[in-house]
Amino acid sequence: LHNIVQDLKGKIRVFVRVRPLSSGEEAAGCQHALRYGGEGSVLAMPEGRLAMKTWDFDGVLGVADGQVDVFREVQGLVVSAVDGHNVCLFAYGQTGSGKTHTMFGDVEGPEAGISPRAAGEIFRVLERNTEGGAMDSWSLSVTMLEIYNDQIYCLMGEGGKKVSLKFGGKEGVEIVGAESQDEVVSEAELLAVLSRGSERRRTSSTAMNADSSRSHMVVQVKIRSLSLTGKETTGKVTIVDLAGSERLSKLGKVGDEQLRETRSINKSLSSLGDVIAALKKKSSHIPYRNHPLTALLSDSLGGSSKSLLFVCCSPADYNRSESVSSLDFGFRCRGV
Ligand code: ADP
Ligand code: MG
Repeated sequence: LHNIVQDLKGKIRVFVRVRPLSSGEEAAGCQHALRYGGEGSVLAMPEGRLAMKTWDFDGVLGVADGQVDVFREVQGLVVSAVDGHNVCLFAYGQTGSGKTHTMFGDVEGPEAGISPRAAGEIFRVLERNTEGGAMDSWSLSVTMLEIYNDQIYCLMGEGGKKVSLKFGGKEGVEIVGAESQDEVVSEAELLAVLSRGSERRRTSSTAMNADSSRSHMVVQVKIRSLSLTGKETTGKVTIVDLAGSERLSKLGKVGDEQLRETRSINKSLSSLGDVIAALKKKSSHIPYRNHPLTALLSDSLGGSSKSLLFVCCSPADYNRSESVSSLDFGFRCRGV
């Protein structure tokens, strides 16, 4: 496992996750618009074309794959964060495609998503390492942030506090004005912080979904450890639940506020795509500073960090063009 994880350094792996049709979609007679070609490929017929298009990914998680199967793909990365690596896990897709379900889901039980499972895994590894004598001591801190209309807010404490970024320094980018919960000592405590932060996340309703998320949410769990010989190691897991990627035409009637939100989301997602494209080309300049989202993630994307992107898709035919554009985005991110 160690060698495989080492091998992932600086890479972005991309998985597609397709949620099941909802009962409402089933009742309305929606058809599946996506096909699977085995070994990580997805097929769909883009609008206005007569032939199927194929996209190849590192893997596809379909209707038969549950939260356990999703976590299996990220478990090794979470373990490597305890070993001192920066790991970034993302979910991209239109509103209603399953991003929040994948990254958070329930706090416990079979539908618990990546964050609660990662919380459990981190503490299991820390306990194993200290009991086994591989580690002398450790400390864990967590912060949760939200990016809404190009502004970063802290989701800790009372929430709503504006946060700024400072460049340079030891850690590359420094978050100024964010609160964090330091000295988190148990899985239960970390889960409680995650639940509180998720609740505070700003939402605004759209014609697509009564509580659609129009903001990006970023969770950062920092793990510091001290070996028996006194060597300090710092690793970080960053979990990003991106705002809905849908284009404006999908939203039905929109006011000025929604227009502004959508423009900001488009800008941030295209900045993310640009950063990944620049990493892929091994450009000398990576445009991290074009948006607060990419600036915030600059120490967790590229370099020696390891990333995994989940492209979340609705299977329904009425979402075909959004699914196609999400698959296109994910495909462009592959192979960094
Ligand atoms: P998003 O965050 O992308 O807007 P959600 O995660 O809120 O989407 O998912 C929309 C709805 O679909 C929710 O009711 C969620 O529980 C359900 N859902 C999403 N993915 C799955 C899945 N893989 N299996 C079962 N239900 C799912
Ligand atoms: Mg969501």
